[in-house]
Amino acid sequence: MRPQVVFVTSEIYPFSKTGGLGDVLGALPLTLHRMGIRTAVVTPFYGRLGSAEFGVHLAWSDCHVGYPWDPVTADIFQANFHGMPVYFVHRSEYFDRRFYYNDHKGDYFDNAERFIFFSRAVMEFLKRLGPAPAILHAHDWQASLIPVYLNYWRQHDPFWQDTRSVMTIHNLAFQGRFSSRLFQGAALPPQAWSMDGVEFYGDFNFLKGGIACADKVSTVSPSYAKEILTDAFGCGLQGVLRARQHKLHGILNGADYSIWNPSSNRFLPCTYDADHLKGKRNCKLSLIKELDMDPALKNRPILGFIGRLRRQKGVDLLIDILPRLMQQDVGVVVLGEGNLEKEARLHAMMEDYPGRLTTIVGYTEDLAHRIQAGCDIFLMPSTYEPCGLTQMYALRFGTPPVATAVGGLRDTITPWPESGATGFIFNEQTPDAFHAAVTQAISVWKDEPKTWRDMVRRAMQQQFTWERSATEYIDLYRELGMQ
Ligand code: ADP
Repeated sequence: MRPQVVFVTSEIYPFSKTGGLGDVLGALPLTLHRMGIRTAVVTPFYGRLGSAEFGVHLAWSDCHVGYPWDPVTADIFQANFHGMPVYFVHRSEYFDRRFYYNDHKGDYFDNAERFIFFSRAVMEFLKRLGPAPAILHAHDWQASLIPVYLNYWRQHDPFWQDTRSVMTIHNLAFQGRFSSRLFQGAALPPQAWSMDGVEFYGDFNFLKGGIACADKVSTVSPSYAKEILTDAFGCGLQGVLRARQHKLHGILNGADYSIWNPSSNRFLPCTYDADHLKGKRNCKLSLIKELDMDPALKNRPILGFIGRLRRQKGVDLLIDILPRLMQQDVGVVVLGEGNLEKEARLHAMMEDYPGRLTTIVGYTEDLAHRIQAGCDIFLMPSTYEPCGLTQMYALRFGTPPVATAVGGLRDTITPWPESGATGFIFNEQTPDAFHAAVTQAISVWKDEPKTWRDMVRRAMQQQFTWERSATEYIDLYRELGMQ
C-alpha cells in the first residue's frame, strides 16, 4: 500500500544517533505510525546498527544509482521498527566509518558525494518500491537534496507528480555548503544552479536548496522559527528564509517519555516519580559513587551538563564560570565530546577540584540518563537552541534547568520567579548573567527546600508529548494534500 509519509534522515535512534536529530527521528515517525499514518523511514547504513533486535535483513540488492557513478549500486536493508519499516541505504565505502560526518580532523572530505549518493539512492529506491508517497519529509542538510530532486523530477516524471515535500531544519548552522565544482556530480538540471535552487553566493549549498525547493519548511520550535529570520540567528540564510516565510512553520519537538522517564528506566539504579522523590535521592547517591565524587556532595547541589562541547552549547560560558561556581560548594558533572581543546581544558580543571568536578569525555547514552537523574540542577547555557531535548529530559527527571532565553529553551521552561516556574532563564549571553542565574538556582535549592520541591514536581509534570507535535505535522501534510 502507498506510504503516506516517507522520512529521509541521516540518523534514527536506536540505530544511529549523534544528538537530538537521532532522538527526533526515533520518535516522530513511530508516533505518526501509531496514529494511523502509513509511515516509513530511509537512512544510511553506517556499518553497525546499534540494535540487533529489529530483524534487519537485505531487502533489495544492487539498487542502481544513476549518473555520475554509473554503474554504482546500493543495497537496501530493511528493519521492522515496532511495525514501521525502516530502510537502510548500504554502500560501505561511503557509510561504514567510525563517525558519521567528521572525525577529530574535521568534516569528511567526501561529505557532498556521500549525501548526494544517499539522496539519489533514496529516490531510486522509492521508485522501485512504488507507489510514490504523498509526502517526502527530509531532515537537515544531509537529506536536503531530496526536495530539490523532487522539485525538478516531478516536472517531467509522472511517478513523482503528486508527491509533496517538507524540509525540517534541526540546526541552521549546519548547511552542507560545498564548492560549486561538486554541483555537476549531483546531476541536477542546470536551472537548479540559481537563486531558486542550490546556488548560494557561488557555493553549492544543500540546505539552501532544500529550503528553496520544499513545499513546506519547518523548524523545531516556534521561537527558533522567528529567530532564524533575523541577522543574529539566520546563519546567512535569513534572506532566503524571509522570502519564504509563508511556507515556514515552527513545530515544537516532543520528548520520548517511553525512553526518557525516571519512573521506568533500565539505565537507573532506582526509579522515581513526582510523588515518590526518594528514588531521585538514591540516584544522586549512586551517581556520587559511580563517578567517585566527594561523599559530602550528598548534602550539596550537583550541577550537570550534557552535550556537544561546542560554542553552541555554551561550553565557553561554563568553563568561564567554573572557578566561581566551585567556590560555592557545589559539585559539577560534565558529559560531552566534540572539541579536543575544550575536552583537555575541562579535564585539566578536574585536578583543581578533585572529587567535586567530574568530566567524562565521550558519548555514553546510559550515563546521560544517570546524570539527568542524579543531579539537582541542569545547565544549558546554549548560545542558540533550535529546540533542545536535554532540557525537556531534565524537566522530566526533576532536575530544573538553568538555560539561556533562546529558541526551544524559551518555549519549554517557565522561568523563576514566575508562578509555575520550572527552571531558570537568563537573557544576556555573558558569564556574569549565567553565573547569576546559577547562583539563584543554588540559593533556592539551599534556602527554600519546599519551593524547590514544588518546582521539581511541577517540572516533572510537564508534558511535551510527541502526539501533540505529530498532530501539527499531520495538519501540515494535509495542507499539502495528504489524504
Ligand atoms: P543537539 O541535537 O543539539 O545535540 P539536543 O538537546 O536536542 O541537542 O539533544 C542532545 C541529545 O544527545 C540528548 O539525547 C543527549 O542526552 C544526547 N547527548 C549529547 N551529548 C551526549 C554525550 N556526550 N553522551 C551521551 N548522550 C549525549
